[in-house]
Amino acid sequence: MSMDMTFLGTGSAYPSPHRGASALVLRTEGECWLFDCGEGTQTQLMRSQLRAGRITKVFISHLHGDHLFGLPGLLCTVSLNSNPDPQQSLNRVDIYGPRGLRHFLRVTLGLTGSQLLFPYAVHELEPTADQSPEEGQLGPEMTAESGPPHPQEQPGRTISLDTSGECYLLFEDKKFVVKAFRLFHRIPSFGFCIREHDRPGRLKTERLRELGLKPGPLYGRLKAGEPATLESGRVILPSEVLEDAIPGRKVCILGDCSSILGQGPLTLCSGADILVHEATLGNEHREKAVDHGHSTPGMAAAVARACCARRLVLHHFSQRYKPSSLQKDGDEDDVSELKRQAEDALLDSGVDVTLAEDFLTVPIPLRR
Ligand SMILES: [Zn+2]
Ligand SMILES: [Zn+2]
Repeated sequence: MSMDMTFLGTGSAYPSPHRGASALVLRTEGECWLFDCGEGTQTQLMRSQLRAGRITKVFISHLHGDHLFGLPGLLCTVSLNSNPDPQQSLNRVDIYGPRGLRHFLRVTLGLTGSQLLFPYAVHELEPTADQSPEEGQLGPEMTAESGPPHPQEQPGRTISLDTSGECYLLFEDKKFVVKAFRLFHRIPSFGFCIREHDRPGRLKTERLRELGLKPGPLYGRLKAGEPATLESGRVILPSEVLEDAIPGRKVCILGDCSSILGQGPLTLCSGADILVHEATLGNEHREKAVDHGHSTPGMAAAVARACCARRLVLHHFSQRYKPSSLQKDGDEDDVSELKRQAEDALLDSGVDVTLAEDFLTVPIPLRR
């Protein structure tokens, strides 16, 4: 199964002509999952190879506008472009994010009289009090949904920290298990860990032939991990005829933060194929970055090193850093310096560093 990630916006604070506000799409066969949806994400989508109508799930790391202002507009445009044929029922869009997100969508879609042709559900993550300074904590009077639900809103879950106190189980299906974990930022912010299940290895066809097994339903059983019984009564175990399992990929996408809360997330992200981490400002501005709940390349590198990620992708750059292609001689803030800072911190670690730019697609190949 092919898998890749496309950055639609890599700027912090606001969208600019040279850098969109935060948004990226993780694409697996046929499905697109959107992570954050800053203002202008829909036009970035139109400029990309991706199709907004393919988005089945949305994950919002936190409620800051540069990660959220684009969502109501995007939903409306997807609806306008979908087939209004009542015979064809459109799939539900599942939206995950911090408490308050359901209220936000109810108010913005409700007050603007926005109609949607497809149903949606908001699944809210319950933050804990240590995820932000006190002034960033949103009380129930700010976040509790009020008024009637949007006609297309379906009931969503409220997801609390699991009993280990380390993560939130968002969902698990045949292909993936997706969890969230807590970050420290000016308001409650979350990271997401997408783990693909391991897959059974290939059938050793030579061995099967030796055992006298012809292609047929028994092949399928063995491949699915079940034993198969030959006519002779001999039982063949899957381990006899399967090559090593193909390990699933792991992708970790962190929202804005100046640190991770607890050891749990590092274990969760351990060995990530890709770790996407913000680097709002260079190492020389560390104090300012931390004051604003943000990270530097050095801080992002420390997380990547601690969880032995294979690749660190930096994004969410201050708009003072122009993309390399627009960099002019004499420009003070050079985005490639952010990459160098992360690489310096990761010398001898084996972690590759990639600098995200708008419309960059990063393939996520299977491990062999
Ligand atoms: Zn931000
Ligand atoms: Zn933020």
